Amino acid sequence: MVAVISVLVLFAGTHYPKLSIGTPGDGPDKILHFLAFATVTVLLRISGITGGAASTLVLVGGLAILDEVTQEIPGLGRSFDPLDLVADFGGIIVALAWIAALGPDRSGPDWFRTGQDRRIASLVLLLASPVNWLHLAIATSLGAMLGGVFLGVAGRNPIVGPVTMVVVGAAAGGIAGLVACLESGRRHATDRMDREQRCLNCLEPNGCPRCETCGGGYRGPSDRHIPSRRIAMVATLWTIGSAMLLFGGYLLLMTRSSDRSWMGTAVRRYDALGLNFEMMVDATLLGLVGAFVVHRSRRRMSRIAARYGIECLRCGHDLQGLPEQPEPRCPECGEAFVADSGVPDVAARRESEEHGER
Ligand SMILES: [Zn+2]
Ligand SMILES: [Zn+2]
Repeated sequence: MVAVISVLVLFAGTHYPKLSIGTPGDGPDKILHFLAFATVTVLLRISGITGGAASTLVLVGGLAILDEVTQEIPGLGRSFDPLDLVADFGGIIVALAWIAALGPDRSGPDWFRTGQDRRIASLVLLLASPVNWLHLAIATSLGAMLGGVFLGVAGRNPIVGPVTMVVVGAAAGGIAGLVACLESGRRHATDRMDREQRCLNCLEPNGCPRCETCGGGYRGPSDRHIPSRRIAMVATLWTIGSAMLLFGGYLLLMTRSSDRSWMGTAVRRYDALGLNFEMMVDATLLGLVGAFVVHRSRRRMSRIAARYGIECLRCGHDLQGLPEQPEPRCPECGEAFVADSGVPDVAARRESEEHGER
């Protein structure tokens, strides 16, 4: 409820000035379009009022078209620009891709999905408080201010104008501030959830009468851990690799464009769209690659989680049929693991987890 109100306030904030205040003709307006619509999409999607990903796309997409068409109204001094629409949709699609990549993944064993449910529940608990929204907003603005000043001062260069640099720096700094604040806040929320034994579904403290009908319940942290350093490294390499591939592709196009005339024309046409638009296209491509990499890493995690206790996650040694030990370790490499003690209410938990879907 609070989230919905905050969304509406933020939505009004991001939407109205853009309609009335004309952005300078050659400013970073494509990047701003991209950011504004990415933000609106994220807020609307997590608030749940727009339903699933497809309906959010249709709704925010419709808003983007409406926004652009209403600029034709005489007196506003603005005109319909199809490139703005492209930027809007770039932002919407990247935002939806990230939400899909970070959303609940229903694969993997019970304890693994419980971990994800706990993560989501603590986020919901965090965002249920208006004060926390304020904290997040402050962290975002602070990051944006620092990033904007930093790139505006240190990032002076002959190709990209200073205003665009400030906007890019502010965007990067703002996202960094937001993520840092969200992560530390989520940890506090997790502590609070564990202290008060809150239901992962309805977030009521344990034993609350309302919770008896919600089918959820509190579940504590798992003592099982997946070694994730290698997955993170693979993901980082993938991201760097694809950024370099994109850059290399541009270079190749530039050098080859003199050979074939159609290529040269295409490059010149693309260049004519403006650096600002090109940066927006790069942001869209890299945003999609990033979301894909995150999605793949999470899939990997759940596949690895499914092998937990069956084989050693460090050396791959078969752990089945080992004699019972008080502190089981892999006989090959000595990696500790938690033996499957046979959870009695697996069926009940699976049922409650289906209710817990958000
Ligand atoms: Zn409950
Ligand atoms: Zn081992």
